[in-house]
Amino acid sequence: MWTYETFYDVLVVGAGHAGCEAAHAAAKMGARTLLVTMNLDTIAKMSCNPAVGGTGKGQIVREIDAMGGIMGQIIDQTAIQFRMLNRSKGPAVWSPRAQADKHLYAQKMKETLETIPNLFLMQGTIEDLLIENGAVVGISTKEGIAFRSSTVILSSGTFMQGKIHIGSTQFSGGRAGDPPSIGLSNSLSQHGLRLGRLKTGTPCRIHKRSVDFSKCERQDGEEDVRFSFKKGFSRLSQVPCYITYTSQESQKIVEQNLYKSAGYSKKMVGPRYCPSIEDKIVRFSDKERHQIFIEPEGLYTQELYLNGISTSLPFDVQVPLIRSIAGLQNAEIVRPAYAIEYDYVKSGQLQLSLETKTIQGLFLAGQINGTTGYEEAAGQGFIAGVNAALKVQGRPPFILSPQESYIGVMIEDIVSMELTEPYRMFTSRAGARLLLRQDNADLRLSHYGYQLGGLVTKEDMEALDFKKQKIKDAIQLLKRHVQVEDRSYTLQQMIARPDKSYLSVQQDYPHLVPDLEEETRFQVELELKYAGYIKRQEEENQKLKDLDAISVPEGMDFELVKGLRNEARETLKRVQPLHLGQIGRLPGITIADLNILFVAIRGFRKHPHQAPTATLEETFVS
Ligand SMILES: Cc1cc2nc3c(=O)[nH]c(=O)nc-3n(C[C@H](O)[C@H](O)[C@H](O)COP(=O)(O)OP(=O)(O)OC[C@H]3O[C@@H](n4cnc5c(N)ncnc54)[C@H](O)[C@@H]3O)c2cc1C
Repeated sequence: MWTYETFYDVLVVGAGHAGCEAAHAAAKMGARTLLVTMNLDTIAKMSCNPAVGGTGKGQIVREIDAMGGIMGQIIDQTAIQFRMLNRSKGPAVWSPRAQADKHLYAQKMKETLETIPNLFLMQGTIEDLLIENGAVVGISTKEGIAFRSSTVILSSGTFMQGKIHIGSTQFSGGRAGDPPSIGLSNSLSQHGLRLGRLKTGTPCRIHKRSVDFSKCERQDGEEDVRFSFKKGFSRLSQVPCYITYTSQESQKIVEQNLYKSAGYSKKMVGPRYCPSIEDKIVRFSDKERHQIFIEPEGLYTQELYLNGISTSLPFDVQVPLIRSIAGLQNAEIVRPAYAIEYDYVKSGQLQLSLETKTIQGLFLAGQINGTTGYEEAAGQGFIAGVNAALKVQGRPPFILSPQESYIGVMIEDIVSMELTEPYRMFTSRAGARLLLRQDNADLRLSHYGYQLGGLVTKEDMEALDFKKQKIKDAIQLLKRHVQVEDRSYTLQQMIARPDKSYLSVQQDYPHLVPDLEEETRFQVELELKYAGYIKRQEEENQKLKDLDAISVPEGMDFELVKGLRNEARETLKRVQPLHLGQIGRLPGITIADLNILFVAIRGFRKHPHQAPTATLEETFVS
């Protein structure tokens, strides 16, 4: 094995969505970073749906962008249709989504990474981790090259021991067209990490010329949606998507062939929330039809993605199944659907910084942690990249709390939860979702990117401070009273009325209501319309933050805490939480457990060698 003579601060394995974000963040923070990936031509490849964002996921992309990450900027430049999902519902759940030109997305990502100082790219397949005295010191590749580095981030996606299934046909692969990663799983197991197995699936791609669009509903995009808080990116021309539905015939085909489905016959664990067509037809047997979105894969290809019909049925069943769908009677399939099984690292082995508990300097991000989705991967990649750079710089880790971000919610979940299926984000996972909106991610998080250094510029921070001040000033100005018939109202009260908006009140009182640019106006309007709810959620958040401030003392042994239920004790030992707030959010932990631990922590601080029990009078949480 030949060691490449250069030494790196951060070495990222795998240039998928987690790896790109990790490498970008670490390099921007000044760490000398190497991104090693199997194939430099598949950087940021979209393995499944050619789209970024969606419910809960769009929020993650906005958060990454607010802190100086890259995904939002790349998708804004390569999207061919933007939409804001859930617009008919409250702003807490509005979620941006964009259909990407998947080739341009990957190309733009590579082009951007190539221009970043401190960031080096290298093609290679990592087989082994180099570990010395319990700490990672580098990696070695199949090509016979070793690289030395202070930290390593693994983001190898669905590739570890990947096995592809199409009916009873199966073969090794990291995803269609790519080889699996074999050595890495063995290396992780040998170094004591516990691995599990998960699966996911993808639908067929078809040729555009074979679709009868007259039988489908056209769906156009919306102009006023974007991901990056940075403005001024040029946009591509926008194209429509189409909607169609499965038929009674589709249902019959699936039911009759269920036993041939790899997912069904092998009982692999797949994502409940991105179900295969087999899952949908079994679980929702009373539903007469299922919606299918026909989505273009790019501007310069005729390939279309069939969103909603992922399957692991054999190909000879896929053909009649697709042709039983309205508009697809003559469908020409260009890529078969398949399911993939892969290794992931089981929960309980990571700290909130995404560094492993047992191997110093080794970080994990993306699908390897049991999540699914480009956005979830990118969110973890950003955090792992930042924390690897911080470790090298000798600074404390950066941990986002679930009260301030979707990324914080996700990381606490994957660190704490025993996953039984791939984890994906939803708005319902965030308790404080009215505060964690996609529109205010910059107001919530950009200061972190600035403080971390290298991610958010001084100019961007000053512009943001200016925006914050404008919001504050406008809200102050709107305290002025106006007379409506015989009663006096503040302008704030007028705007808060359900039948009014900022603009309509401005029309009525042009000299009293200031002109604001759209984004600032939106913030002012939301603050006024949802003032009561926002205040309540802020108060609840504060209570939770108080619990976050009670840290678990180093050396405290949960085994010695009297009165704890065994189930709670096991969960605590597995997760090793940092503070009482995290304990309170662990699945299966009760208020009684929390009370006992509160007293135990206090007791431990006073007498580290005694095992305390809680008394009723001492309890504090209700
Ligand atoms: C068939 C299929 C269906 C999917 N369906 C969905 C879905 O329905 N919904 C959804 O949200 N997501 C889905 N996904 C998942 C989505 O693709 C992933 O969540 C996302 O890409 C994960 O990002 P990542 O960065 O963790 O890994 P990936 O994007 O998979 O990237 C991993 C990278 O690591 C590289 N690599 C792997 N091993 C090595 C090694 N040993 N040495 C060097 N490089 C290595 C690979 O070449 C690749 O570039 C699907 C994926 C597949 C394959």
